[in-house]
Amino acid sequence: MDFRLTEEQRLFAGSVRAFAERHLRAGALARAHDEQYPWDVAQLMAGQGLLGITAPEEAGGLGGSLMDAVVAIQEIARVCPRSADVVQAGNFGAIRVLAQHATPEQRERYLKPLLAGTGLIAVAMTEPDAGSAVTELTTSLTPDGDGYRLSGSKIFTTHGLHATVFLAYARFGPGVGGIGSVLVERGAEGFTFGKPVRFLSGEDWNPLYFDNVFIPKENVLLGPGGFKKQIAGFNVERLGNSSRALALGQYAFEAARQHVLVRRQFGRPLSDFQGLQWKFAEMKLQLEAAQLLLYRAASNADRGLPSPEETALAKLACNRAGFNAANEAMQAMGGAGFSEDSLVEYCFRRTRGWMIAGGTIEVLLNRVAEHVFDKRFPQRPEPAGRSGS
Ligand SMILES: Cc1cc2nc3c(=O)[nH]c(=O)nc-3n(C[C@H](O)[C@H](O)[C@H](O)COP(=O)(O)OP(=O)(O)OC[C@H]3O[C@@H](n4cnc5c(N)ncnc54)[C@H](O)[C@@H]3O)c2cc1C
Repeated sequence: MDFRLTEEQRLFAGSVRAFAERHLRAGALARAHDEQYPWDVAQLMAGQGLLGITAPEEAGGLGGSLMDAVVAIQEIARVCPRSADVVQAGNFGAIRVLAQHATPEQRERYLKPLLAGTGLIAVAMTEPDAGSAVTELTTSLTPDGDGYRLSGSKIFTTHGLHATVFLAYARFGPGVGGIGSVLVERGAEGFTFGKPVRFLSGEDWNPLYFDNVFIPKENVLLGPGGFKKQIAGFNVERLGNSSRALALGQYAFEAARQHVLVRRQFGRPLSDFQGLQWKFAEMKLQLEAAQLLLYRAASNADRGLPSPEETALAKLACNRAGFNAANEAMQAMGGAGFSEDSLVEYCFRRTRGWMIAGGTIEVLLNRVAEHVFDKRFPQRPEPAGRSGS
Protein backbone atom coordinates (compact mmCIF):
# COMPACT_ATOMS: atom_id res chain seq x y z
CA MET A 1 0.00 0.00 0.00
CA ASP A 2 1.39 3.40 -1.00
CA PHE A 3 -0.11 6.52 0.57
CA ARG A 4 1.64 8.94 -1.80
CA LEU A 5 0.25 10.32 -5.05
CA THR A 6 1.74 8.73 -8.18
CA GLU A 7 4.39 10.63 -10.14
CA GLU A 8 1.75 11.46 -12.77
CA GLN A 9 -0.69 12.73 -10.13
CA ARG A 10 2.06 14.85 -8.52
CA LEU A 11 2.87 16.44 -11.87
CA PHE A 12 -0.83 17.10 -12.52
CA ALA A 13 -1.23 18.63 -9.04
CA GLY A 14 1.77 20.87 -9.69
CA SER A 15 0.37 22.10 -12.99
CA VAL A 16 -3.04 22.85 -11.45
CA ARG A 17 -1.37 24.70 -8.57
CA ALA A 18 0.69 26.76 -11.00
CA PHE A 19 -2.48 27.60 -12.99
CA ALA A 20 -4.25 28.63 -9.77
CA GLU A 21 -1.33 30.78 -8.60
CA ARG A 22 -1.08 32.48 -12.01
CA HIS A 23 -4.77 33.14 -12.63
CA LEU A 24 -6.68 32.85 -9.36
CA ARG A 25 -4.53 34.00 -6.42
CA ALA A 26 -5.19 37.67 -7.18
CA GLY A 27 -8.88 38.36 -6.73
CA ALA A 28 -9.58 35.32 -4.52
CA LEU A 29 -11.11 37.48 -1.77
CA ALA A 30 -13.26 39.52 -4.17
CA ARG A 31 -14.46 36.34 -5.88
CA ALA A 32 -15.58 34.87 -2.54
CA HIS A 33 -17.89 37.84 -2.01
CA ASP A 34 -19.12 38.14 -5.59
CA GLU A 35 -22.79 37.18 -6.06
CA GLN A 36 -22.23 36.35 -9.72
CA TYR A 37 -21.09 32.97 -11.01
CA PRO A 38 -17.39 33.24 -12.03
CA TRP A 39 -17.92 32.60 -15.77
CA ASP A 40 -14.46 33.98 -16.57
CA VAL A 41 -12.90 31.35 -14.32
CA ALA A 42 -15.08 28.64 -15.90
CA GLN A 43 -13.82 29.54 -19.37
CA LEU A 44 -10.22 29.70 -18.22
CA MET A 45 -10.61 26.27 -16.63
CA ALA A 46 -12.18 24.86 -19.78
CA GLY A 47 -9.08 26.00 -21.68
CA GLN A 48 -6.86 24.36 -19.07
CA GLY A 49 -8.69 21.00 -19.25
CA LEU A 50 -10.14 21.28 -15.75
CA LEU A 51 -13.78 20.71 -16.73
CA GLY A 52 -15.01 17.23 -17.65
CA ILE A 53 -11.92 15.55 -16.19
CA THR A 54 -13.78 12.31 -15.54
CA ALA A 55 -16.24 12.53 -18.45
CA PRO A 56 -15.59 9.89 -21.13
CA GLU A 57 -13.52 11.07 -24.10
CA GLU A 58 -16.29 10.13 -26.54
CA ALA A 59 -18.52 12.57 -24.63
CA GLY A 60 -15.97 15.38 -25.02
CA GLY A 61 -14.36 14.87 -21.63
CA LEU A 62 -10.81 13.96 -20.69
CA GLY A 63 -11.43 10.36 -19.58
CA GLY A 64 -9.43 10.93 -16.38
CA SER A 65 -9.95 9.35 -12.99
CA LEU A 66 -11.94 10.56 -10.02
CA MET A 67 -8.65 10.90 -8.12
CA ASP A 68 -7.49 13.39 -10.79
CA ALA A 69 -10.64 15.43 -10.22
CA VAL A 70 -10.16 15.32 -6.43
CA VAL A 71 -6.55 16.47 -6.82
CA ALA A 72 -7.67 19.32 -9.10
CA ILE A 73 -10.47 20.60 -6.87
CA GLN A 74 -8.24 20.60 -3.79
CA GLU A 75 -5.37 22.39 -5.52
CA ILE A 76 -7.73 25.10 -6.79
CA ALA A 77 -9.49 25.47 -3.41
CA ARG A 78 -6.20 25.96 -1.58
CA VAL A 79 -5.51 29.06 -3.66
CA CYS A 80 -9.01 30.38 -4.43
CA PRO A 81 -11.75 28.70 -2.36
CA ARG A 82 -14.62 30.12 -4.45
CA SER A 83 -13.15 28.87 -7.74
CA ALA A 84 -13.42 25.31 -6.42
CA ASP A 85 -17.18 25.65 -7.04
CA VAL A 86 -16.41 25.81 -10.76
CA VAL A 87 -14.41 22.56 -10.57
CA GLN A 88 -17.33 21.03 -8.66
CA ALA A 89 -19.88 22.11 -11.27
CA GLY A 90 -17.63 20.98 -14.12
CA ASN A 91 -16.77 17.55 -12.73
CA PHE A 92 -18.66 16.27 -9.70
CA GLY A 93 -22.23 17.53 -9.86
CA ALA A 94 -25.07 16.84 -12.25
CA ILE A 95 -22.58 17.02 -15.13
CA ARG A 96 -21.28 13.61 -14.14
CA VAL A 97 -24.77 12.01 -14.30
CA LEU A 98 -25.37 13.81 -17.59
CA ALA A 99 -22.06 12.69 -19.14
CA GLN A 100 -22.78 9.12 -18.13
CA HIS A 101 -26.38 8.79 -19.27
CA ALA A 102 -26.97 11.42 -21.98
CA THR A 103 -27.95 10.52 -25.54
CA PRO A 104 -25.63 11.84 -28.30
CA GLU A 105 -28.13 14.66 -28.93
CA GLN A 106 -28.25 15.58 -25.22
CA ARG A 107 -24.46 15.59 -25.09
CA GLU A 108 -24.30 17.94 -28.04
CA ARG A 109 -26.96 20.33 -26.78
CA TYR A 110 -26.30 20.33 -23.03
CA LEU A 111 -22.94 18.78 -22.18
CA LYS A 112 -20.86 20.68 -24.73
CA PRO A 113 -21.53 24.17 -23.28
CA LEU A 114 -20.86 22.83 -19.76
CA LEU A 115 -17.45 21.56 -20.85
CA ALA A 116 -16.72 24.87 -22.57
CA GLY A 117 -17.55 26.83 -19.41
CA THR A 118 -20.35 28.71 -21.16
CA GLY A 119 -23.20 26.67 -19.63
CA LEU A 120 -24.04 25.62 -16.07
CA ILE A 121 -26.24 22.80 -14.82
CA ALA A 122 -28.06 22.75 -11.46
CA VAL A 123 -29.58 19.81 -9.57
CA ALA A 124 -33.24 20.34 -8.67
CA MET A 125 -34.01 17.53 -6.27
CA THR A 126 -35.05 18.93 -2.86
CA GLU A 127 -38.67 20.02 -2.38
CA PRO A 128 -40.43 21.76 0.51
CA ASP A 129 -41.68 18.38 1.83
CA ALA A 130 -38.86 16.18 0.55
CA GLY A 131 -35.47 17.01 2.08
CA SER A 132 -33.58 14.12 3.69
CA ALA A 133 -36.50 11.91 2.64
CA VAL A 134 -35.92 12.83 -0.98
CA THR A 135 -37.90 9.91 -2.41
CA GLU A 136 -41.02 11.63 -1.08
CA LEU A 137 -40.71 14.19 -3.88
CA THR A 138 -43.99 14.96 -5.62
CA THR A 139 -42.97 16.94 -8.72
CA SER A 140 -44.74 15.00 -11.46
CA LEU A 141 -44.42 14.17 -15.14
CA THR A 142 -47.66 13.48 -17.00
CA PRO A 143 -47.57 12.11 -20.57
CA ASP A 144 -48.65 14.68 -23.17
CA GLY A 145 -48.27 13.97 -26.89
CA ASP A 146 -44.60 13.62 -27.72
CA GLY A 147 -43.42 14.41 -24.22
CA TYR A 148 -44.51 15.16 -20.69
CA ARG A 149 -45.89 18.00 -18.58
CA LEU A 150 -43.78 18.83 -15.52
CA SER A 151 -45.50 20.26 -12.42
CA GLY A 152 -44.21 20.97 -8.94
CA SER A 153 -41.65 23.06 -7.09
CA LYS A 154 -38.07 22.80 -5.83
CA ILE A 155 -36.03 24.59 -3.18
CA PHE A 156 -32.37 25.14 -2.19
CA THR A 157 -31.06 24.62 -5.75
CA THR A 158 -27.37 25.62 -5.84
CA HIS A 159 -26.68 27.96 -8.80
CA GLY A 160 -30.42 28.26 -9.41
CA LEU A 161 -29.91 31.95 -10.22
CA HIS A 162 -27.22 31.30 -12.82
CA ALA A 163 -27.79 27.84 -14.33
CA THR A 164 -28.62 27.53 -18.02
CA VAL A 165 -30.17 24.08 -17.59
CA PHE A 166 -31.67 22.16 -14.65
CA LEU A 167 -31.60 18.45 -13.96
CA ALA A 168 -34.99 18.07 -12.29
CA TYR A 169 -35.86 14.90 -10.40
CA ALA A 170 -39.51 14.07 -10.90
CA ARG A 171 -42.06 11.33 -10.63
CA PHE A 172 -43.32 9.36 -13.67
CA GLY A 173 -45.31 7.13 -11.32
CA PRO A 174 -45.59 5.98 -7.67
CA GLY A 175 -42.80 4.65 -5.46
CA VAL A 176 -39.01 4.93 -5.74
CA GLY A 177 -39.22 3.09 -9.07
CA GLY A 178 -41.39 5.90 -10.46
CA ILE A 179 -38.67 8.56 -10.07
CA GLY A 180 -36.51 9.70 -12.98
CA SER A 181 -35.03 12.98 -14.21
CA VAL A 182 -35.47 15.48 -17.01
CA LEU A 183 -33.49 18.41 -18.43
CA VAL A 184 -35.29 21.74 -18.21
CA GLU A 185 -33.91 24.84 -19.91
CA ARG A 186 -34.00 28.25 -18.27
CA GLY A 187 -36.67 30.18 -20.12
CA ALA A 188 -38.96 27.17 -20.77
CA GLU A 189 -42.61 28.25 -20.78
CA GLY A 190 -44.20 27.77 -17.34
CA PHE A 191 -40.81 27.60 -15.55
CA THR A 192 -40.57 30.50 -13.08
CA PHE A 193 -38.45 31.53 -10.11
CA GLY A 194 -39.34 32.85 -6.66
CA LYS A 195 -37.60 35.56 -4.67
CA PRO A 196 -33.92 34.82 -3.90
CA VAL A 197 -33.04 33.86 -0.33
CA ARG A 198 -29.50 33.88 1.09
CA PHE A 199 -27.81 31.00 2.90
CA LEU A 200 -25.30 31.77 5.69
CA SER A 201 -22.63 30.72 3.19
CA GLY A 202 -23.50 33.77 1.05
CA GLU A 203 -25.01 31.62 -1.73
CA ASP A 204 -28.42 32.65 -3.01
CA TRP A 205 -31.12 30.14 -3.86
CA ASN A 206 -34.59 30.76 -5.22
CA PRO A 207 -37.65 28.52 -5.34
CA LEU A 208 -38.23 26.93 -8.75
CA TYR A 209 -41.81 26.56 -9.98
CA PHE A 210 -42.80 24.19 -12.78
CA ASP A 211 -46.31 24.94 -13.96
CA ASN A 212 -47.23 22.40 -16.61
CA VAL A 213 -43.86 22.86 -18.35
CA PHE A 214 -43.70 20.88 -21.61
CA ILE A 215 -40.74 18.46 -21.60
CA PRO A 216 -40.07 16.87 -25.00
CA LYS A 217 -39.26 13.19 -24.68
CA GLU A 218 -35.73 13.95 -25.95
CA ASN A 219 -35.15 15.79 -22.63
CA VAL A 220 -35.71 12.75 -20.42
CA LEU A 221 -32.30 11.82 -18.99
CA LEU A 222 -33.38 8.79 -16.97
CA GLY A 223 -36.90 7.40 -17.10
CA PRO A 224 -38.78 5.51 -14.39
CA GLY A 225 -36.37 3.30 -12.42
CA GLY A 226 -33.51 5.73 -13.01
CA PHE A 227 -33.36 6.99 -9.44
CA LYS A 228 -30.91 4.36 -8.16
CA LYS A 229 -28.52 5.03 -11.04
CA GLN A 230 -28.67 8.73 -10.32
CA ILE A 231 -28.01 8.26 -6.63
CA ALA A 232 -24.94 6.16 -7.47
CA GLY A 233 -23.73 9.17 -9.48
CA PHE A 234 -24.67 11.40 -6.55
CA ASN A 235 -21.92 9.74 -4.48
CA VAL A 236 -19.49 11.43 -6.86
CA GLU A 237 -21.11 14.78 -6.04
CA ARG A 238 -20.66 13.96 -2.36
CA LEU A 239 -16.95 13.41 -2.88
CA GLY A 240 -16.75 16.84 -4.51
CA ASN A 241 -18.41 18.37 -1.44
CA SER A 242 -16.01 16.39 0.76
CA SER A 243 -12.98 17.63 -1.19
CA ARG A 244 -14.07 21.25 -0.96
CA ALA A 245 -14.88 20.99 2.75
CA LEU A 246 -11.47 19.52 3.44
CA ALA A 247 -9.61 21.94 1.19
CA LEU A 248 -11.30 24.98 2.73
CA GLY A 249 -10.38 23.63 6.18
CA GLN A 250 -6.79 23.26 4.96
CA TYR A 251 -6.89 26.80 3.57
CA ALA A 252 -8.02 28.21 6.93
CA PHE A 253 -5.46 26.07 8.80
CA GLU A 254 -2.61 27.44 6.67
CA ALA A 255 -3.81 31.05 6.95
CA ALA A 256 -3.99 30.72 10.75
CA ARG A 257 -0.65 28.90 10.95
CA GLN A 258 1.07 31.79 9.18
CA HIS A 259 -0.81 34.32 11.31
CA VAL A 260 0.21 32.84 14.67
CA LEU A 261 3.85 32.66 13.61
CA VAL A 262 4.04 36.45 13.19
CA ARG A 263 1.35 37.90 15.45
CA ARG A 264 2.79 38.76 18.88
CA GLN A 265 0.96 39.18 22.19
CA PHE A 266 2.44 39.30 25.71
CA GLY A 267 5.82 39.81 24.05
CA ARG A 268 5.82 36.45 22.19
CA PRO A 269 4.47 35.04 18.92
CA LEU A 270 1.04 33.41 19.40
CA SER A 271 2.55 30.11 18.22
CA ASP A 272 4.54 29.97 21.49
CA PHE A 273 1.36 29.38 23.52
CA GLN A 274 0.62 25.73 24.12
CA GLY A 275 -3.12 26.41 24.23
CA LEU A 276 -2.88 27.31 20.53
CA GLN A 277 -0.25 24.71 19.58
CA TRP A 278 -2.62 21.92 20.62
CA LYS A 279 -5.40 23.36 18.50
CA PHE A 280 -3.12 23.11 15.48
CA ALA A 281 -2.04 19.58 16.36
CA GLU A 282 -5.70 18.50 16.65
CA MET A 283 -6.60 20.19 13.35
CA LYS A 284 -3.67 18.48 11.64
CA LEU A 285 -4.74 15.08 12.94
CA GLN A 286 -8.32 15.48 11.73
CA LEU A 287 -7.39 16.98 8.36
CA GLU A 288 -4.91 14.24 7.53
CA ALA A 289 -7.21 11.41 8.65
CA ALA A 290 -10.02 12.85 6.51
CA GLN A 291 -7.65 13.20 3.55
CA LEU A 292 -6.87 9.48 3.68
CA LEU A 293 -10.56 8.52 3.78
CA LEU A 294 -11.23 10.84 0.84
CA TYR A 295 -8.38 9.36 -1.21
CA ARG A 296 -9.54 5.84 -0.39
CA ALA A 297 -13.10 6.51 -1.59
CA ALA A 298 -11.91 8.26 -4.76
CA SER A 299 -9.14 5.84 -5.56
CA ASN A 300 -11.32 2.75 -5.13
CA ALA A 301 -14.01 4.47 -7.19
CA ASP A 302 -11.66 4.58 -10.15
CA ARG A 303 -12.60 0.97 -10.60
CA GLY A 304 -16.32 1.97 -10.75
CA LEU A 305 -18.59 4.39 -8.89
CA PRO A 306 -17.60 5.22 -5.31
CA SER A 307 -19.02 2.85 -2.72
CA PRO A 308 -21.80 4.32 -0.56
CA GLU A 309 -20.01 3.34 2.68
CA GLU A 310 -16.61 4.75 1.73
CA THR A 311 -18.28 7.90 0.41
CA ALA A 312 -20.31 8.34 3.61
CA LEU A 313 -17.22 7.90 5.81
CA ALA A 314 -15.16 10.27 3.67
CA LYS A 315 -17.86 12.95 3.63
CA LEU A 316 -18.42 12.69 7.39
CA ALA A 317 -14.71 13.00 8.11
CA CYS A 318 -14.09 15.83 5.60
CA ASN A 319 -17.17 17.81 6.67
CA ARG A 320 -16.19 17.63 10.32
CA ALA A 321 -12.45 18.17 9.86
CA GLY A 322 -13.00 21.02 7.39
CA PHE A 323 -15.52 22.85 9.58
CA ASN A 324 -13.55 22.27 12.77
CA ALA A 325 -10.35 23.57 11.17
CA ALA A 326 -12.10 26.67 9.83
CA ASN A 327 -13.69 27.29 13.23
CA GLU A 328 -10.48 26.79 15.22
CA ALA A 329 -8.40 28.75 12.69
CA MET A 330 -10.80 31.66 13.13
CA GLN A 331 -10.42 31.44 16.91
CA ALA A 332 -6.63 31.37 16.65
CA MET A 333 -6.71 34.51 14.50
CA GLY A 334 -9.04 36.45 16.80
CA GLY A 335 -10.79 39.45 15.22
CA ALA A 336 -8.63 39.17 12.10
CA GLY A 337 -10.12 35.74 11.31
CA PHE A 338 -13.68 36.88 12.01
CA SER A 339 -13.43 39.81 9.58
CA GLU A 340 -14.59 39.80 5.98
CA ASP A 341 -11.17 40.80 4.71
CA SER A 342 -9.95 37.33 5.63
CA LEU A 343 -11.05 34.26 3.67
CA VAL A 344 -11.11 32.30 6.91
CA GLU A 345 -14.61 33.48 7.84
CA TYR A 346 -15.73 32.52 4.29
CA CYS A 347 -14.25 29.02 4.78
CA PHE A 348 -16.12 28.78 8.11
CA ARG A 349 -19.47 29.69 6.51
CA ARG A 350 -19.03 27.42 3.49
CA THR A 351 -17.82 24.36 5.41
CA ARG A 352 -20.84 24.66 7.70
CA GLY A 353 -23.20 24.35 4.75
CA TRP A 354 -21.70 21.08 3.53
CA MET A 355 -22.72 19.43 6.81
CA ILE A 356 -26.29 19.85 5.49
CA ALA A 357 -25.91 19.82 1.69
CA GLY A 358 -25.42 16.61 -0.26
CA GLY A 359 -26.52 14.29 2.56
CA THR A 360 -26.62 15.63 6.11
CA ILE A 361 -24.25 14.37 8.79
CA GLU A 362 -27.13 12.42 10.37
CA VAL A 363 -28.23 10.78 7.10
CA LEU A 364 -24.62 9.72 6.47
CA LEU A 365 -24.34 8.31 9.99
CA ASN A 366 -27.51 6.29 9.29
CA ARG A 367 -25.81 4.91 6.18
CA VAL A 368 -22.67 3.96 8.11
CA ALA A 369 -24.73 2.32 10.89
CA GLU A 370 -26.49 0.13 8.31
CA HIS A 371 -23.09 -1.00 7.12
CA VAL A 372 -21.88 -1.65 10.69
CA PHE A 373 -24.87 -3.87 11.47
CA ASP A 374 -25.30 -5.19 7.93
CA LYS A 375 -28.98 -4.40 8.20
CA ARG A 376 -31.44 -1.90 6.73
CA PHE A 377 -32.95 0.47 9.27
CA PRO A 378 -36.08 1.88 7.60
CA GLN A 379 -36.62 5.44 8.80
CA ARG A 380 -40.33 5.57 8.02
CA PRO A 381 -42.94 4.46 10.57
CA GLU A 382 -44.29 1.00 9.91
CA PRO A 383 -47.63 0.97 8.09
CA ALA A 384 -50.60 0.78 10.52
CA GLY A 385 -51.41 -2.78 11.57
CA ARG A 386 -47.86 -4.14 11.14
CA SER A 387 -46.27 -2.96 14.40
CA GLY A 388 -46.64 -4.58 17.83
CA SER A 389 -47.45 -8.04 16.52
C1 LIG B 1 -25.65 24.93 0.95
C2 LIG B 1 -26.72 24.00 0.45
C3 LIG B 1 -26.76 23.68 -0.89
C4 LIG B 1 -27.77 22.83 -1.37
N1 LIG B 1 -27.83 22.56 -2.72
C5 LIG B 1 -28.83 21.79 -3.20
C6 LIG B 1 -28.96 21.56 -4.62
O1 LIG B 1 -28.15 22.01 -5.43
N2 LIG B 1 -30.01 20.83 -5.07
C7 LIG B 1 -30.94 20.29 -4.22
O2 LIG B 1 -31.85 19.62 -4.69
N3 LIG B 1 -30.85 20.48 -2.86
C8 LIG B 1 -29.82 21.23 -2.35
N4 LIG B 1 -29.72 21.45 -0.99
C9 LIG B 1 -30.71 20.87 -0.12
C10 LIG B 1 -30.15 19.73 0.76
O3 LIG B 1 -29.98 18.58 -0.02
C11 LIG B 1 -31.13 19.52 1.91
O4 LIG B 1 -31.08 20.70 2.72
C12 LIG B 1 -30.78 18.31 2.76
O5 LIG B 1 -31.03 17.11 2.03
C13 LIG B 1 -31.58 18.25 4.05
O6 LIG B 1 -32.94 18.45 3.83
P1 LIG B 1 -33.74 19.56 4.68
O7 LIG B 1 -32.98 20.83 4.61
O8 LIG B 1 -35.15 19.56 4.20
O9 LIG B 1 -33.66 19.06 6.17
P2 LIG B 1 -34.59 17.94 6.85
O10 LIG B 1 -34.63 16.73 5.98
O11 LIG B 1 -35.85 18.55 7.30
O12 LIG B 1 -33.70 17.57 8.13
C14 LIG B 1 -33.60 18.42 9.27
C15 LIG B 1 -32.66 17.75 10.28
O13 LIG B 1 -33.19 16.46 10.65
C16 LIG B 1 -32.21 15.48 10.43
N5 LIG B 1 -32.84 14.22 10.00
C17 LIG B 1 -33.73 14.05 8.98
N6 LIG B 1 -34.03 12.74 8.85
C18 LIG B 1 -33.30 12.08 9.78
C19 LIG B 1 -33.16 10.71 10.14
N7 LIG B 1 -33.82 9.75 9.51
N8 LIG B 1 -32.30 10.39 11.15
C20 LIG B 1 -31.61 11.37 11.81
N9 LIG B 1 -31.71 12.67 11.52
C21 LIG B 1 -32.54 13.03 10.52
C22 LIG B 1 -31.31 16.04 9.33
O14 LIG B 1 -30.04 15.42 9.33
C23 LIG B 1 -31.26 17.49 9.72
O15 LIG B 1 -30.30 17.70 10.71
C24 LIG B 1 -28.72 22.29 -0.49
C25 LIG B 1 -28.67 22.61 0.88
C26 LIG B 1 -27.68 23.45 1.35
C27 LIG B 1 -27.65 23.79 2.82
